[in-house]
Amino acid sequence: MTTVVSCTLNEATLLNNVRVRYIKDHIYTYVANILIAVNPYYDIPKLYGPDCIKSYQGKSLGTMPPHVYAIADKAYRDMKVLMMSQSIIVSGESGAGKTENTKFVLRYLTTTYGSGQDIDERIVEANPLLEAFGNAKTVRNNNSSRFGKFVEIHFNEKNAVVGGFVSHYLLEKSRICMQSNDERNYHIFYRLCAGASEDIKKKLHLDSPDSFRYLNRGSTRYFASKDSDKQIMQNRKSPEHLKIGALKDPLLDDQGDFNRMCEAMKRIGLDDTEKLDLFRVVAGVLHLGNIDFEETGSSSGGCVLKNQSGQCLEYCADLLGLDQDDLRVSLTTRIMLTTAGGAKGTVIKVPLKVEQANNARDALAKAVYSRLFDHVVTRVNQCFPFETSSNFIGVLDIAGFEYFEHNSFEQFCINYCNEKLQQFFNERILKEEQELYQREGLGVNEVRYVDNQDCIDLVEAKLVGVLDILDEENRLPQPSDQHFALAVHSKHKDHFRLTVPRKSKLTIHRNLRDDEGFIIRHFAGAVCYETTRFVEKNNDALHMSLESLVCESKDKFVRELFENSNTTKDSKQKAGKLGFISVGNKFKTQLNLLLEKLRSTGSSFIRCVKPNLKMVSHQFEGALILSQLQCSGMVSVLDLMQGGFPSRAPFHELYNMYKQFMPARLTRLNPRLFCKALFRALGLNDNDFKFGLTKVFFRPGKFAEFDQIMKSD
Ligand code: ATP
Ligand code: MG
Repeated sequence: MTTVVSCTLNEATLLNNVRVRYIKDHIYTYVANILIAVNPYYDIPKLYGPDCIKSYQGKSLGTMPPHVYAIADKAYRDMKVLMMSQSIIVSGESGAGKTENTKFVLRYLTTTYGSGQDIDERIVEANPLLEAFGNAKTVRNNNSSRFGKFVEIHFNEKNAVVGGFVSHYLLEKSRICMQSNDERNYHIFYRLCAGASEDIKKKLHLDSPDSFRYLNRGSTRYFASKDSDKQIMQNRKSPEHLKIGALKDPLLDDQGDFNRMCEAMKRIGLDDTEKLDLFRVVAGVLHLGNIDFEETGSSSGGCVLKNQSGQCLEYCADLLGLDQDDLRVSLTTRIMLTTAGGAKGTVIKVPLKVEQANNARDALAKAVYSRLFDHVVTRVNQCFPFETSSNFIGVLDIAGFEYFEHNSFEQFCINYCNEKLQQFFNERILKEEQELYQREGLGVNEVRYVDNQDCIDLVEAKLVGVLDILDEENRLPQPSDQHFALAVHSKHKDHFRLTVPRKSKLTIHRNLRDDEGFIIRHFAGAVCYETTRFVEKNNDALHMSLESLVCESKDKFVRELFENSNTTKDSKQKAGKLGFISVGNKFKTQLNLLLEKLRSTGSSFIRCVKPNLKMVSHQFEGALILSQLQCSGMVSVLDLMQGGFPSRAPFHELYNMYKQFMPARLTRLNPRLFCKALFRALGLNDNDFKFGLTKVFFRPGKFAEFDQIMKSD
């Protein structure tokens, strides 16, 4: 049976099935060909070992217990047989196990179908580096990926691995300067402080993480100095361990992780100079963050660096190859082109207020770090180059649908992405199901589902979509979040998918005014977005003086970060004029390219599920899991299946399963006739099943009934 869920299909039975299996450590379950993966939060013995890897090699889906390896092998076999690239879409909320399962897929494919060369290992070893720069501890996951990625493994005409390619999406930039309580900045910052040699620490002027603003804000400091505390930390089941703060989290071994990361860097071919380049920029960002400003008190209303910031300025300038004075001036003033007084294009220097200077500093830090991350991905891609490839298997590891107490631009983008992926999922599942029915000659009417194109249009349609309305706001001389929110409401007054937060009972949210946000009815539920800072977050451009400062850095590495960044020359030129590069529209373009790619491949889906909020093993919180199954579109798959024939079994399987219960004269028939005779003998209702060419298909719940009759007779 390819379908594990075989009784009446609804939320309750699916949930129960997943629960019963989870209790037995069977964390994987299929619904049709979709794999549900529950995070066990502990290492289940032998679940992923070399023997297990071998046992899945070349086996059809369903002949072995459900497993992420079975999905990986199916993708490989489909690629080979159909001569078509494949993709595996891994989704789920934060901490559900997407990244871990992605790593298992990559390891499986490179171990089983690798070329036996360096390249196989490099594809797996690139991960620690990406995670060091793109993952962080959050309240939901100690190793949370703060970016999306699509990892392609490329194969030659003989179907052996030839190389790989990683694309990345939407690194969370706000984290670079600020973290919520009990959360941390990106791992690399702490690892560098904890693990670098004395010599490097001296060169980079590094100290403990507590001495850096970008690391010590929003964090509950915690020092596990007492033995009792250390014990708490070692017991992952203890709720106390969740209260632990961010800076010195004994659950995270920053020093050990630093060493492991350096090992991985070495194995993928990064030399010491390159390593130091990366570290230098990371340290530069930390020192930049320590620069403070104060009012000048003069009538011009500007600000200056605080006295004690001189040293940070010096360190930062030194590490990033900038001139100290230029850096100071660029942080405290802004160059503007003015048309005032008829003197077109006159350059004037406008002094910045303390708050504006703080913003300029943070904008520079975000720009430098995110360009550094782009570089890390580019560099990683150079580690597994390939000249030609016949096909690829791509694995998408991207955040699932999110709704928090406060939802901002980040949630808006990720939920938009999930609408697109959900549409793709529906298309595929539906199409596959229909194709199967056709292949088997079932003559079943079309299966229907609710399309979410209207929601996608609401976000991405030209001119009237929320993204374009936002861009229009960004281009105004004085853009404002309030004006943007009102523009969204006025353009979509009667849109079914959009409502005003005021009085709406669709979501639990603060008492927002209409100019403070909007609610979108997503496929997975309504979300209230607070539009504060949407305008700022949508803009990727540095103000002109900072941009030219870093572009002219004396440090070749820093200069190249900005030259090679994936903002094209064209968009930079435009940005120069308008001071604006759209984050939202860049994401839209990337996403549409990704979907185009996905549509050109065969696809498999892995839905990851988080069993509890405490991040502990052996705890199954039903309500939490159900809501995740709903958000991942699984429940709508059930609806779809409910109208069709969700359980199916090849004739020969039924024959082998039940021949022992039948008289000898029946067992002499071929399996198809055997099944026909059997069903007639049992007096089954013709509406409950259909005979295809190779399989018999059952209406929901009917296979279980049939199985019951057979076993009780
Ligand atoms: P995010 O969206 O925050 O990146 P994620 O879905 O990628 O979350 P993971 O980082 O893959 O989540 O998993 C979170 C943690 O759960 C892991 O660090 C690991 O401790 C544990 N975990 C996940 N999957 C497994 C597994 N199959 N076996 C054992 N532990 C697991
Ligand atoms: Mg992850």
